[in-house]
Amino acid sequence: MSHKISTAPCTVADNIGTIRDKISATTMAYQRQTGTVRPVTLVAVSKRQPDDRIEAALTAGQRVFGENRVQEANSRWAHRREFYKNLKLHLIGPLQTNKVSDAVTLFDVIEVVDRPKLAKALGVEMTRQNRQLECYIQVNTGEEQQKSGIAPDDADDFIVYCRDEVKLKITGLMCIPPVDEEVSMHFALLKTIAKRNSILTLSMGMSGDFEEAIAFGANSVRIGSAIFGQREG
Ligand SMILES: *Cc1c(COP(=O)(O)O)cnc(C)c1O
Repeated sequence: MSHKISTAPCTVADNIGTIRDKISATTMAYQRQTGTVRPVTLVAVSKRQPDDRIEAALTAGQRVFGENRVQEANSRWAHRREFYKNLKLHLIGPLQTNKVSDAVTLFDVIEVVDRPKLAKALGVEMTRQNRQLECYIQVNTGEEQQKSGIAPDDADDFIVYCRDEVKLKITGLMCIPPVDEEVSMHFALLKTIAKRNSILTLSMGMSGDFEEAIAFGANSVRIGSAIFGQREG
C-alpha cells in the first residue's frame, strides 16, 4: 500500500469543472486581445491513474484523453471504446516503431511524430489499416538531448516530408518545454513554426502552465494531475 495523497473520484468532476472555467476565461481574453476565435480542446491525461478516477471523468462528460504508453493505454481504453463511441484518444508519449501497429489501431491522434523512420512506419500502417489518423509533429523546442521531438531548425523540412512524401495528415504541432526554463519563448517558437507551415492545432500547456499556453495561442492543452491528482508509480 502506498500512502500518497489521493484524489477522491468525486473531486475529479470538480477539477474538470474548474479547469474548463479557467480555459473559457483565458480563451475569451485571448479572443478579445487578438480577435481570433480559438476553441480549446482539453486533453485529460489519464496515464497511471486508477480506474475510479477515469470513470469519474467519463461520467463528468470528458471524452478526450491522453496517454503516453501504447500498452497501458490499450488495457485502459480498448474495452471502453464499445461503451463510449465518441472517445478521442491522443498518444502523447514517445512511440517506438514496433508499437506503431497497436498505436494506429487504438489512437485517434498521434501527437509525437518526430523522425522520418516513425513517420514512414505510421504512413505504411495507416494505409494497411485504412485509418488516416490526425498527426502532430513534436518539436523539441528546448533542443534537449534526452527529449523526443524534431529540432526547431529541421521542423519545416520534416513537415514537408511528412505531408508530401509520407502523406500523413499533419494537423498540429506539440511541444514539452524544458522544466527549468521560462515557458513563453517555447510556446512562441511553436506558434511561429505552426504559422509558417499553416498548421492550425497547437498542443502546448500542462497542469502548471496551460493558461499561459492559451495566452500564447494553444488550442489543445494536456492536463493530468490538476484533474486526477497525483499519479501512481
Ligand atoms: C504526463 C504528461 C502531461 C500531463 O502532465 P500534468 O503536469 O500532470 O498535467 C502532459 N503532456 C505530456 C506529454 C505528458 O507526458
